[in-house]
Amino acid sequence: MKDVDVAVVGAGISGTVFCWAMQRIDPDVRIVCIDRLDDKRFDRYHSICGEAVSKQAFKELPFSPRCVCNRIEKVREIWPGDIVIEERAKGYILDRPTFLHDLQDECEEVSFEKRTLRSVRRDGERMVLSTDIEEIVCDVVIGADGAFSTVRRSLFGSSAPVTIPVSQFIVDEVSDSGVIEFVYGERYGGGYRWRFPCGDFSNVGFPHGCDEVPERTLAKGGRHIPIGGVESIVVPGACLLGDAAAMVNPVSFGGIRVAMLSAVKAAEAVAKGDLGVYQRWWDSSGFSDPIFMKAYEVSCRWRDKDMIEFMTPFRHGYRPAAIFRALLGNEKHVTVAKAYMKSFRYGW
Ligand SMILES: Cc1cc2nc3c(=O)[nH]c(=O)nc-3n(C[C@H](O)[C@H](O)[C@H](O)COP(=O)(O)OP(=O)(O)OC[C@H]3O[C@@H](n4cnc5c(N)ncnc54)[C@H](O)[C@@H]3O)c2cc1C
Repeated sequence: MKDVDVAVVGAGISGTVFCWAMQRIDPDVRIVCIDRLDDKRFDRYHSICGEAVSKQAFKELPFSPRCVCNRIEKVREIWPGDIVIEERAKGYILDRPTFLHDLQDECEEVSFEKRTLRSVRRDGERMVLSTDIEEIVCDVVIGADGAFSTVRRSLFGSSAPVTIPVSQFIVDEVSDSGVIEFVYGERYGGGYRWRFPCGDFSNVGFPHGCDEVPERTLAKGGRHIPIGGVESIVVPGACLLGDAAAMVNPVSFGGIRVAMLSAVKAAEAVAKGDLGVYQRWWDSSGFSDPIFMKAYEVSCRWRDKDMIEFMTPFRHGYRPAAIFRALLGNEKHVTVAKAYMKSFRYGW
């Protein structure tokens, strides 16, 4: 049996950033971080991602961007009705597995171990984790174990309102350097097809089964995106981060930034000895605004003709006058227009 102060379940983006931030705030806290995947499978799992993060994400984090494969300068959106919008947008495509290993290497005081969590229970003031290898006893459990979180199932009894299966392909084609491209249409059911630069290749993806497998595919994979949040992200002795808390933005489907930020906020709350601080941060944050989920629900029902109607005012870009017209205009589009505008700030 292992006895620590904090047990982190999941060494993905949220779990690793939590360890990094917690160790920096208080190096004396004894932390174990477990992940069910060994090196090769871990890297494979974490490379199934668009790996795009905005520049603004790093303004609110205690570390700079690192392991950057490509810089993003522009977003291109392709809508039905031949509407193509190009906007300036600054960000990065990360080499996500290397990014995680890099941060983990700096967590000298944290013990990273390959273990699969089976369940968690409370025992008096302490928490007991049953894993495939041993029991771990701790004061605080951090649920950073992704879309189908075992911590959430054991302690919170909740699940993500919507979980979207997504397919991703590495394609032997060079993408426009610095441009991330999104194709919208009713076939993507409230989602989109993306195409991002990925070194000398392209990273392409879409909701599972909504489009053809791209030609010249070199590798393919799939994972789930949980959206819609969960009722509570804190219970006594435990909290949920990132995908375990279904924090992914339901309009942009960006989850890396909020996973990293939630990890930093949770570390601050653990250091204060008051997890309630973390719940209050989330409840009052722009990331958890219910308008995003409302917009997702509306856009899931959209046909191509609705998208054309919605996007026509923006044909020449997201100009203030067009935004103003959209917000005052057709009532059925106002929720989506508001969520889109807000997602520029909180989406990725
Ligand atoms: C195809 C795809 C493309 C995406 N593209 C982007 C993008 O371009 N930009 C963006 O911002 N977001 C993107 N996202 C969303 C983003 O990947 C996630 O929001 C983010 O990875 C969440 O990180 P996390 O650490 O919370 O969870 P995860 O990355 O899922 O990590 C969870 C970790 O927990 C481990 N684990 C799970 N269960 C257990 C267990 N029982 N015991 C021990 N360990 C366990 C897993 O092995 C994993 O390592 C994409 C998602 C998908 C599916």
